[in-house]
Amino acid sequence: MDHAPAPLKTWYHGAMRAVLIATYELGRQPFSLASPAAWLRRAGAEVICLDTAVAPLDRASVVGATLIGLSVPMHTATRLAAEMLPELRALAPRALIVCYGLYAPLNADHLRALGADVCIGGEYEAELVRLWERRLDGGEPEGAVRIALDRLAFVPPEREGLPGLERYARLMTPLGPRLAGYTEASRGCKHRCRHCPIVPVYGGRFRVVPREVVLEDARRQVAAGARHITFGDPDFLNGPGHVLPLVRALHAEYPGLTYDVTVKVEHLLRYAHLLPELRATGCTLVTSAVEALDDAILERFDKRHSVADVARAAALLRAAGIALNATFVAFTPWTSRQVYRSFLAQIAELGLLESVSPVQYAIRLLVPAGSRLLDLDEVRACAGPFDARALVHPWRHPDPAMDELQRAVLRLAQGSAARGETRPAFYRRVLALVDAHIGAAPVVAPEHLLQRPPIPYLSEPWYC
Ligand code: SF4
Repeated sequence: MDHAPAPLKTWYHGAMRAVLIATYELGRQPFSLASPAAWLRRAGAEVICLDTAVAPLDRASVVGATLIGLSVPMHTATRLAAEMLPELRALAPRALIVCYGLYAPLNADHLRALGADVCIGGEYEAELVRLWERRLDGGEPEGAVRIALDRLAFVPPEREGLPGLERYARLMTPLGPRLAGYTEASRGCKHRCRHCPIVPVYGGRFRVVPREVVLEDARRQVAAGARHITFGDPDFLNGPGHVLPLVRALHAEYPGLTYDVTVKVEHLLRYAHLLPELRATGCTLVTSAVEALDDAILERFDKRHSVADVARAAALLRAAGIALNATFVAFTPWTSRQVYRSFLAQIAELGLLESVSPVQYAIRLLVPAGSRLLDLDEVRACAGPFDARALVHPWRHPDPAMDELQRAVLRLAQGSAARGETRPAFYRRVLALVDAHIGAAPVVAPEHLLQRPPIPYLSEPWYC
């Protein structure tokens, strides 16, 4: 069913305010505020967007708000939102507080206990408008928790009132930084990887944003100074027929504009023939959730790729002239001492030293509410009951030294930028840590440690 935004109700304008708040969107100017802002303004709301990742909470804007929307697209954002909720409730006791985004329905009990009235997951824009209109009509919301997967008639996001692009992550290139914008050409994902928080909400479905809407969003960000666009689609090649005409059109309009996308290993292999065209239209960087360099762990994640596939995908990207940003879940209950040593050795052997940012050596498996990982007996055996404060089922490694190593690698990664070290230099530090914590770091052939040309990367490291 299509839901177009309601026509402008000018008689409300200026009188009733919606405040949309993002707490952390991975260093990007929040699409999750700009898109619903456009919908709510068309419904007559005065909309104020606040991004507390880059500015303190503007409490004066919150006081007297009719509706407060809190974007919770991922783990860190939700933890920050949970800390903020009691204060929002105290500042605006009569406001309808709506948490929206992937983590909202899955953590609804906790968020509602802290002050949220309604939690919406999935395609939230039309739901926010419905809640807004119902509030104006004096009605109570129907249902406190909802996953919306309706196909929406999107409108171009409105970024007025958001902090400027210069406040957000940039693409760092050997030729200097490029101001980066962010948009989404699709949401959800047609895959069902077991550890992925998208799956409990979208259940293997994805929804496209019309090309003209995406293009207009990109145009507005280019006009605001962007020289690079990040496409935040969970997987850019879920719908090649949708995105190829889009990047062709974007490149025709802005030949100097670069972009980056996220593509799973399986799609890099299946659509290898498309990589040269992605490169020709400005794609400089592909993020790929490799997750592990161990086939048994990849099997548990239901990733549908093997270590050999990763090697092929990395070679294909190299041949196409596109840099790879590889992401990992480096520590899992199955990451034994030997598995972690082998992970480090293979990163060097596969020529990925430049493709792995420091934090990726330290990422620990999250088991969020509703995770398909809980289908596995061995996960249920090591994971505790849901911890509402941490928003996860906590788990302990059977070998305590692995948990200690993870904490040590994370501390090392957190100091890496301040030390100004290269990625290969960081890698060598991790080898030394392994020696200290679990003994006998892998022996890496000197040719694999040779410095390669640095690749472009986004200045905000990926945290979930
Ligand atoms: S391909 Fe990526 S986005 Fe899709 S389910 Fe798997 S991990 Fe999630």
